[in-house]
Amino acid sequence: MRNMIGAGVALFLLAAITIVFYVLPARVDARANRVIAHEPYAVSSQARTLHETIPVADLHADTFLWMRDPTRRQNRGQTDIPRLIEGGVKLQVFTAVTKSPKNLNYEENDADSDDITMLAIAQRWPVASWGSLFERARYQAKRMEKADEQYGPEFRMVRNQSDLRRSLNVGALAGVFGIEGAHPLEGKIENLDRLYDDGLRVVGLQHFFDNELGASLHGTDGGGLTDFGRDVVRRANELNMIIDVAHSSEIVVGEVLAMSTRPVIVSHTGLKGHCDSERNISDDLMKTIAAAGGIVGVGFWDGAVCTPDLETIAEAVVYAVDLLGTEHVALGSDFDGAVTTPIDASELPALTQALLDAGLDEATIRAVMGENAVRFFLENLPVD
Ligand SMILES: [Zn+2]
Repeated sequence: MRNMIGAGVALFLLAAITIVFYVLPARVDARANRVIAHEPYAVSSQARTLHETIPVADLHADTFLWMRDPTRRQNRGQTDIPRLIEGGVKLQVFTAVTKSPKNLNYEENDADSDDITMLAIAQRWPVASWGSLFERARYQAKRMEKADEQYGPEFRMVRNQSDLRRSLNVGALAGVFGIEGAHPLEGKIENLDRLYDDGLRVVGLQHFFDNELGASLHGTDGGGLTDFGRDVVRRANELNMIIDVAHSSEIVVGEVLAMSTRPVIVSHTGLKGHCDSERNISDDLMKTIAAAGGIVGVGFWDGAVCTPDLETIAEAVVYAVDLLGTEHVALGSDFDGAVTTPIDASELPALTQALLDAGLDEATIRAVMGENAVRFFLENLPVD
């Protein structure tokens, strides 16, 4: 009898462990990163031929936050290396999410809660990452490096201009490592150098809450950069890291533009004049970013473009091109960033079709779908 109770308890524990560590994380992932159900998109031979000649590039995906094998094609989420390759992507910025407040919203969040802690535990991340944002960033960089080792020559984690040039020359998918908010520095400037050594090249300053560097667009403070924030901008400039002001308050964006010696990006965003969402900063500020040589990644989800369908994304791209000039507009899908999108990465040719349907010429489509971002990274990554 005692043995039977023992076996029952063991069985119960096993079931509980399976649910918490395997079933739940997969379910959270599938629910967070949905593709809207749709019939296969019609892509003309003109669009397909055009798409095949473009080095497609995307400025923001959170692929490595989720515990699915990025080297295999998955039936959940919006990206993995095989689907990115199928979509013709040659350059993808993969961003580490390290902290995310409960009840995410675009208006206001305090920094007191964090859903990533539960996710890190449930997804069986290393124990060191449970209580350390720095270790969480580092772990996601390691996962990317491991994917590079496992996948073979068609995927490379790139760290400098020569890496990227080599990757483009062989038609591989190049991954650049970034962070979504610089709170994993944990207030220490030397952690920027340590993460640089791990491959960090795109430094987002804020995410959904105010941090040690300054105010978020969705925080409580609404102010500008702190002294530490200025130190980070200065050091990132010195190291030839690319600064990303997505999610930063408008005051922070203005202050970064005033002090940065290098152009900045807004990796995933919409245009306020096209979609008046709390997620988007003013058109005037966008123009200043472009005038300083920056690029802006147009997003694929409701907070960025208001209606997440291909026609509206194309409309946002046309609006951005008219406002900022062709050479400053890129893609910033936010794939796997807990958003719902009309396509997954393998379906990007349908966006080329939508841009043709919106009346853009082929040269503009090539620029927006990839050439602008590729040029920007070839100019702004460290030389070697
Ligand atoms: Zn984001």
